Amino acid sequence: MRDIAITESVAAIAPSAAEETSFLANKLKREGIDIISFAQGEPDFDTPDNIKKAAIAALDEGFTKYTDVPGIPDLRKAIQSKLKRENAVEYEIEEILATSGGKSALYEIFRSLVGKGDDVLIPAPCYLSYEDQIKLTGARAVFFPTKPENGFCPTLQDVQQNITDNTRIFIVNTPCNPTGAVFKKKDLQEIANFLVERGVFILTDEVYEHLIYGENEHVSVASLGDEIKEMTITVNSVSKTYAMTGWRIGFVAGPKQLIRALNNLQGHAVGNPNSIAQRAAIEAYNGTQQHIEDRQKVYAERREYMVKRLNDMRDITCHSPEGAFYTYPNITSLYGKKYDGNKIENDLDVAKFLLEKAHVAVVPGVAFHGTDHIRFVFAKSMEEIKDGMDRVERAINELD
Ligand code: PLP
Repeated sequence: MRDIAITESVAAIAPSAAEETSFLANKLKREGIDIISFAQGEPDFDTPDNIKKAAIAALDEGFTKYTDVPGIPDLRKAIQSKLKRENAVEYEIEEILATSGGKSALYEIFRSLVGKGDDVLIPAPCYLSYEDQIKLTGARAVFFPTKPENGFCPTLQDVQQNITDNTRIFIVNTPCNPTGAVFKKKDLQEIANFLVERGVFILTDEVYEHLIYGENEHVSVASLGDEIKEMTITVNSVSKTYAMTGWRIGFVAGPKQLIRALNNLQGHAVGNPNSIAQRAAIEAYNGTQQHIEDRQKVYAERREYMVKRLNDMRDITCHSPEGAFYTYPNITSLYGKKYDGNKIENDLDVAKFLLEKAHVAVVPGVAFHGTDHIRFVFAKSMEEIKDGMDRVERAINELD
C-alpha cells in the first residue's frame, strides 16, 4: 500500500477523546462486554414529536433539494425571534447564518477570522474541538486554567494576565463543557468591556443555554451592550436543547461582514444545511417549548443523584455543576493506588481503570485541557446512572 502524504495541518489533529472513548466503549460492547458509557455528550431523550412531524411533512412535500446557503428565510427568522425572545438581543436577518451544527459554525468562524500568527484565548478546561479546529487554521489555541475556587469561571484578572497583542478571539462557553460552570453577568460584563477596548472578538458558545440548575441564569454576551454586540459572535445549535444532535443544525449570529464571509465559505465547503433538518429546526424554535422545562427537571434530578453518589465515594469529590449535563469530579485522591500491577498516576489512568475494572466509560480531564478530574455525562437514564455509580464505587473500594 502506498503511503499517503496527509497535509501537515490535518496530520497534526487527532480524533476527539470523547469520540475515541465512545468508539472504544462501543467496540467493547460489540465484543459482548457490558459497558456503561458516560462519555458522549448528548441527550438520551428522543427528538420531540412535533419536531419529527415537521421533518416528515418536509419529506412528504419533497422539500429535498438545495436551499439558500445561509438557511431558508423562515429558519433565519425563527432564529432571529429566538434570539430576541430568549437572549434579549436583536439581530437583522443578514446577521444570522444557519449552519450544519454548532461544530461547523465554530470551524467556519475560526477559518474566517484567524490564521498563522494569531492566538485564540480559551479558559480551560474547555470543549475539546476548539483546539484542533483552531490548529487547522494555522492559528494557536492558548489556554489558561480556571480555578475550582472561582467555580471554574474566568475572571477579568485571568483575561488581563493572559491576553497578548496576538489575541484575536476570546472564547466564552457558558454553561461550560466539561465543568458545568455558568458565568456570572458581572464577570462577563467586565471581561467583555475589557476585550472590546482591546479590539478582541468574543466568541460565545451557548449550546447549553437551556441546561441550567437552581438559581443560576444564562447571560448572552451580545445582550450586554451595543459595543459588545459588535464584537460578539454567538454560536448555538438545536443539538442539546431539543435533543437533535444527529440533525446537524446550528447557527451563527454576528456582524454582517463576518456573516457574508462565513456564507461564502459555507457555500463552497459545505453548501446549505440539510433541508429537512432546517424545517425541523423551525418547528423546534417556533413550536412549544414545554419539553425543555420538562426535561430540565429530569436532568436536575439526575444531577443531584450523581453528585451525591460521587461525593459519597471514597477518594472522590464533586462540585455541583450549575449547568450543562456533566459532572466533573476531582479524582486526585486515587493517585498512587494500584490495580492488577498498574499504578494510577493521573486522570487518564483513572479513566482507563474505570473502563477496565468497572466497565464504565468516562472522559479524562486532560482531553479538555484540564487535569485531575474526569467527566461523566448525566444525560442518561436513572437506571444506567445508578448502575454506573454502583460499579464505580465497587471498583474504587477494591483498590489497594
Ligand atoms: N460547543 C460545545 C461546548 C459542545 O459541547 C458541543 C458538542 O458537544 C458543540 C459546541 C457542538 O455541538 P453541535 O455540533 O452538535 O451543535
